[in-house]
Amino acid sequence: MDDLRRLHPGKAFVYSVGDSVKGTPLWVIAVAARKPESHVTLRPELKFVGNMHGNEVVGRELIIRFARHLLDNYGVLENVTKLVNHSRIHLMPTMNPDGFDAAIMGECTGVTGRANAKDMDLNRNFPDAFDSSHSPQRQKETQLVMDWAMTTQFVLSANMHGGALVANYPFDNYANSDGYTARYSISPDDALFRKMAYTYSKYNLPMKKSAEFESGVTNGAQWYPLPGGMQDWMYLKGGCMELTLEVSDCKYPLYEQIDGFWNDNRDSMLSFLYKGFIGVKGIVKDANNNPLSDVRVSVVGRGEVVSRTTPSGEFWRLLLPGRHSLKFKSGNSGATFVNLTLPEFEDFDPNAAVIIDVVLGGDAAVTVSETTPATESVTEKITPVSVVGTEEVGTITMPENSAVEVFPRKQYLSGMIVIIFLIIRI
Ligand SMILES: [Zn+2]
Repeated sequence: MDDLRRLHPGKAFVYSVGDSVKGTPLWVIAVAARKPESHVTLRPELKFVGNMHGNEVVGRELIIRFARHLLDNYGVLENVTKLVNHSRIHLMPTMNPDGFDAAIMGECTGVTGRANAKDMDLNRNFPDAFDSSHSPQRQKETQLVMDWAMTTQFVLSANMHGGALVANYPFDNYANSDGYTARYSISPDDALFRKMAYTYSKYNLPMKKSAEFESGVTNGAQWYPLPGGMQDWMYLKGGCMELTLEVSDCKYPLYEQIDGFWNDNRDSMLSFLYKGFIGVKGIVKDANNNPLSDVRVSVVGRGEVVSRTTPSGEFWRLLLPGRHSLKFKSGNSGATFVNLTLPEFEDFDPNAAVIIDVVLGGDAAVTVSETTPATESVTEKITPVSVVGTEEVGTITMPENSAVEVFPRKQYLSGMIVIIFLIIRI
């Protein structure tokens, strides 16, 4: 990774999120066309994490190759260039370096090196949303990744494993699970998660043609339930949609097989990250144009998934095309709702997201304005937005999928929301 950083100054930044139990850094290489060392307003932060199970090594190699692919082909391949121009991609090849050190090349099955140095399975080590009694001792590597996700607002992520060939999406667990009964555990964003998983398998032929999993995708708990997994935590607590990708039937194949795995996964990895550009994003401000941090952002009907605005007031919400109602809530003040219709998107469109500014507070009349972009009218999406209104805390119980009906007409004129389409290209 250091070689890549030296070869591509200004586009790669290498950092560690901290050390493993045995003191090995958990390295990350961040790739972006500019300022790879820092966040840029509204530029989505995307990531791949590999080798969480130390003996599942293909993901580790894929992630290193992906870093090289992005850097070597920036300015050469259009889809690579657009991705690197419009996002920052964080690549952690190894979340469990101690387990990797213990793993044995050529062992396709088995568990030598799976756990960390304290013999704990890191993908059972996160807080569980369905089972509060699941509380194994938090491992250093787990805590480091949780802290990483709390200090960087990731938008989209995948966690690479081995031992099967499938794109697995939340939830991994369900309430009152007996620990082994497989059952579909549907998440509020099920349709979008399925779309993401299909996007991955679509470009990975062996995965797509899986004999075990239809189209190479599965709901996590439908395969088998597990408590304390990373993807459920990342989705519900990290504000980041995450898949678990099983990228090789053999956990630790011989090195000469890696070229084949790379060819199978390269386009999937690229197309998957483009899903970080869909939906809606923007900045929440107060009436004096100051960005508001820690505003809770959710989608009506999916209230259990709540993200929070960054210190710069930014939010991202990946969503499928169609009509959605967003809810913004700051502290104990009333909630503000914004309705919008999101357009269809292409597989490789870095400008697919609708960008809005939301102003909370004040008591003036509602103002809504839209701006048409001056350039690139072909790719820019301008979407009708309607302001639904505001509510006082606790005065309305939101029924599922019926946001519009619960608001009296007069509320269109109460509160103040200004929505402006920003023309921001990052
Ligand atoms: Zn695994």
